[in-house]
Amino acid sequence: MDLLFTEDYLRRIPGPDWPRIIVVADGSCGESCSVLGISSDYIVESCNAYGANATIERLDQRQVPTPEIKAHSLYFDLSAYGMDAVREPRNSAVKPGFHLKIYGTFRNRYMALACPASDSKMVRFLRHTANSAIMKNIFHQSFNAYKTDIEPRLNDLTLHHMQCSRRLFEIMLSHRRVNAAYIEGDNVAVTIEGEAARVLNFDTGCGVNLGLRGLEALGTFIYKTATALDQNDVFEALSAKIQHSKQVAETFRQTGLASTMFE
Ligand SMILES: Cc1cc2nc3c(=O)[nH]c(=O)nc-3n(C[C@H](O)[C@H](O)[C@H](O)COP(=O)(O)OP(=O)(O)OC[C@H]3O[C@@H](n4cnc5c(N)ncnc54)[C@H](O)[C@@H]3O)c2cc1C
Repeated sequence: MDLLFTEDYLRRIPGPDWPRIIVVADGSCGESCSVLGISSDYIVESCNAYGANATIERLDQRQVPTPEIKAHSLYFDLSAYGMDAVREPRNSAVKPGFHLKIYGTFRNRYMALACPASDSKMVRFLRHTANSAIMKNIFHQSFNAYKTDIEPRLNDLTLHHMQCSRRLFEIMLSHRRVNAAYIEGDNVAVTIEGEAARVLNFDTGCGVNLGLRGLEALGTFIYKTATALDQNDVFEALSAKIQHSKQVAETFRQTGLASTMFE
């Protein structure tokens, strides 16, 4: 059944004595939280990495899911753009080079390119360049170098099927300051999940996994709320849920990109 969550729908829910629970998972553009009066205040934090994304749509290719392809320690020859190809001294604290991931289907190819934050010459150049042809060329060459053998190469004639970030950007995680709340008059507990709770400005290809991390605390939250003897018990359940969500965001910031991109 298709159900649109609106203020009107909320009014029509009958109000029993025990707390009801609304799980909001309406994605990064959803507005259900504002209908429920929950603040849209986000904490935005750096993941200490830079990245760029690309998509290739080729309607003549089959919509068949493909195993993800990962490549590490990539360097790009940007001498044609006036950046000399001399490698910088390898700093042991910063893993050198870029990490690439290709995923999706043969028809809709997605690419993610990322590197740990550094102040290297190459990174600075790609972050601040105003020439979008450079990123396009990097994704073009990387795709042809790492694609599966059975899919066609991109060439000058098919390159327009690719869209990509104009430059390297800082990867940021935005997470909602309040992701669980209690509406006292209505005796409703609300929890916010998925991209409505936390979202990256970079597509790792693993967005669903990040959403699932939040759900790990949902069972306990429902149990604690359903068995609450008074409001204090409900507040404890809310507080544990908010705490868990903070932890999910912090863990992602510390190790998320390493596990989805760098390893
Ligand atoms: C191009 C692209 C490729 C991706 N590829 C992958 C991948 O390969 N693997 C991966 O893990 N992740 C991938 N992701 C990320 C993944 O799609 C998201 O992380 C995931 O869909 C987020 O799930 P969500 O349930 O939070 O939100 P959404 O999937 O956005 O779902 C929100 C739902 O709520 C509904 N809704 C909104 N408002 C209301 C309302 N008022 N009432 C009722 N319903 C409402 C919307 O219609 C929608 O169905 C990709 C993302 C993009 C953009």
